[in-house]
Amino acid sequence: MKRCTNGVLACLGDDDYPYAVPVSFVYFNDRIYFHTAKAGHKIDAITRYSKVSFSVVDEDTVVSEEYTTYFRSVIAFGKARIVGENEKLAAFKELVKKYSGDQPMDAQHKEIEGVFMHI
Ligand SMILES: Cc1cc2nc3c(=O)[nH]c(=O)nc-3n(C[C@H](O)[C@H](O)[C@H](O)COP(=O)(O)OP(=O)(O)OC[C@H]3O[C@@H](n4cnc5c(N)ncnc54)[C@H](O)[C@@H]3O)c2cc1C
Repeated sequence: MKRCTNGVLACLGDDDYPYAVPVSFVYFNDRIYFHTAKAGHKIDAITRYSKVSFSVVDEDTVVSEEYTTYFRSVIAFGKARIVGENEKLAAFKELVKKYSGDQPMDAQHKEIEGVFMHI
């Protein structure tokens, strides 16, 4: 969960079809956070039915001579919710740190402020 840069969020979509959608995420305070547009299939699905699972693949090494792959993955089950403002800010900072931690601090702050001014 700490290492992977994307995971698949599986929720109950339209007409009860599973809707499995890849997202970037951060694992922080024993929770999985992702950032998303306010509208769309994923938000509709989560709002309607909060139970979800989230899977990440950490390793998938093809070992042809053994007719297999050496894989390592994890699946978490839980309930998705839209977080409040303070939690949102803390999680977004962690997302920025994870994906753009190598960028100058002032550029990171600018990005965070920019996003929060538009929420
Ligand atoms: C590696 C990776 C990381 C991503 N990170 C993020 C992220 O952090 N936050 C985020 O919001 N989105 C991310 N995306 C995009 C995400 O997968 C969705 O496309 C996006 O969030 C829109 O989802 P939605 O349910 O609102 O789709 P809608 O805009 O409502 O989509 C309409 C329809 O398009 C189809 N569709 C939607 N997404 C996909 C897809 N990825 N592939 C194929 N068909 C699709 C579905 O049939 C869906 O019903 C990422 C995608 C990838 C591959």
